[in-house]
Amino acid sequence: MAEFCDTHAHLDYPDFAPDLPQIIERARTAGVTRIISVGTSLPSSERAVRLTEQYSNVFAVIGWHPSDAPEAPDDLRPALRQLAAHPKCVAIGETGLDYSRLPSKQPGGNPAEDAAIKLKQAALFQQQLEVAAEFGLNCVVHQREAFEDTMSMIAPFAGKLRAVFHCFVDAPEMARRVLDAGHLVSFTGIVTFKNGQNVRDTLKTIPLGGFMLETDCPFLAPVPYRGKRCEPAYVMETARAVAQVKECSLDDLAQATNTAANEFFKKIEKS
Ligand SMILES: [Zn+2]
Repeated sequence: MAEFCDTHAHLDYPDFAPDLPQIIERARTAGVTRIISVGTSLPSSERAVRLTEQYSNVFAVIGWHPSDAPEAPDDLRPALRQLAAHPKCVAIGETGLDYSRLPSKQPGGNPAEDAAIKLKQAALFQQQLEVAAEFGLNCVVHQREAFEDTMSMIAPFAGKLRAVFHCFVDAPEMARRVLDAGHLVSFTGIVTFKNGQNVRDTLKTIPLGGFMLETDCPFLAPVPYRGKRCEPAYVMETARAVAQVKECSLDDLAQATNTAANEFFKKIEKS
């Protein structure tokens, strides 16, 4: 049976508290044998690391999500360094820039607040890139409506780290630039959505080896679970849709995405 890795799950979210052991077992039975739980704040990252100690097939990514930047401490680095040293911490993130929900875009929002939030997001992103480089880890990047700024902030770290642009929904030209810079993209259940044609068009242009698979659960459940709570087992629905677009077998897809994940999350094989 083809075995897959869910490279981006939020197992520490309260959505999973009632039945996490069953969720991990369902994933294993379905063929999703490894799960990477991604932190979105320091408490969330600490919970992700604890989960890796309870489940042998769970790994952690630690960081602070740009959408939660206002609540972050000014300097994340000391706390991140402590967590990054853990043998099952396999990357830093999710980090990056998100300009899609700035105050000026909300009803009654004040554009003057945008600059302060962008500055805080950039400071946190920079700190996370620095810690990643220090520890020889790569970065899980969340980017919305901030592609150019994100690329410019990563550029000085060329040769020191790679990034995965997770939940990729942008155009083929942008995917090309990400890959040309030595980075990766990853795809969620959006690939299965009726209105996901633009994402399938981008996927078509990316060679096997250039992308990984993820759920971003509890969000973005693929068809036929769309709108319900998403869980790692559903990587299989996404994998089937991706194999169709790429006109390859599930086994070939599993091999290519697992190789990409093993190379990207380097410590995953040693721990
Ligand atoms: Zn996420």
